[in-house]
Amino acid sequence: MTACADQNLLLGGLVDGELDAANTALAEAHVTRCEGCREELERLQAVRSLMAMDGMRRQLALSQQIMTVMSASKDAYEQGKGLDAKLTAPPAHVASKVAKTLRKEIADLAGASKDASIGLSGGSYAVPAVKGATSFSRINGQASALLEMVESSSDQAPVPSLYRTYADLCRDFNATLAAWQSLQAKVGQLNVDGARAGDGTLAPARCQVSRVPQTAANYR
Ligand SMILES: [Zn+2]
Repeated sequence: MTACADQNLLLGGLVDGELDAANTALAEAHVTRCEGCREELERLQAVRSLMAMDGMRRQLALSQQIMTVMSASKDAYEQGKGLDAKLTAPPAHVASKVAKTLRKEIADLAGASKDASIGLSGGSYAVPAVKGATSFSRINGQASALLEMVESSSDQAPVPSLYRTYADLCRDFNATLAAWQSLQAKVGQLNVDGARAGDGTLAPARCQVSRVPQTAANYR
């Protein structure tokens, strides 16, 4: 059985819920009498539910990637606090001026804990990207706000702007991580508290988010 050519548009509109009351009634009445169109309607409904499922998978995949950024930035923040503690009372061979400068750099990269609750400007889903190195608390806060948006995406499928926002967040995270790693190396060379670069006590943040997800265009 095939659907009537003149009904195709109406059937599509019916599945998508885009018809007005009069056309909905017309299409429904036709489907009850026409087996071909009934089969076509069932096919369209199946396709639509598959698309919704795919949207759910996309939502889950993006959420997981965002959570990776959140946990990596939280780890790095904790590392910063640990490193700072070692420099609070620096060993004799480290000049206090040097220790002070390093602590300032650590504080800048770790960020203030209040930034971890940073909100979004709302409206256009714009997490303000820093476009470079920022602080791990800020990234953590932005990631958590973005996660909330992704999880409340209607129809499950995240909209393209959320992917762009995530890509921005990844870039900021990587820039911050690079700055953090070079700072760790600097502190490591000072043999603070017996720790040497490369001995594991000052290991770099374990998680690097370098994989930017496919753009939304690739999903279409
Ligand atoms: Zn028909």
